[in-house]
Amino acid sequence: MEIDAIAIDIEARFWNRVNKTSDRECWQWIGNTQHQGYGRMQINRKTVLAHRLAYMLSVGSIPDGNVIDHLCKNKQCVNPKHLEAVTPKTNTIRYQNSRKHISIQD
Ligand SMILES: [Zn+2]
Repeated sequence: MEIDAIAIDIEARFWNRVNKTSDRECWQWIGNTQHQGYGRMQINRKTVLAHRLAYMLSVGSIPDGNVIDHLCKNKQCVNPKHLEAVTPKTNTIRYQNSRKHISIQD
């Protein structure tokens, strides 16, 4: 297959496994998930995380070493508007802050 055809095929396979709703809502991944609960897809025998793929297909390449943070905290959401590329450090700080927030509410 030509490169373009492969890219189109991956994109089609990806969006077939997404329950797209409005821009504001979470787009639920309905394909396979890995042990931590994140969506995943096989591409050329490699496992790619669904939210990372969503970001790459919709926004662009992920800066080296960055992770994709779910602003909505829904692990299976692949709505690009809910995803942000951040450094692992920022991601950890956000996670800790969100936990603090939860414990205050308890
Ligand atoms: Zn979401």
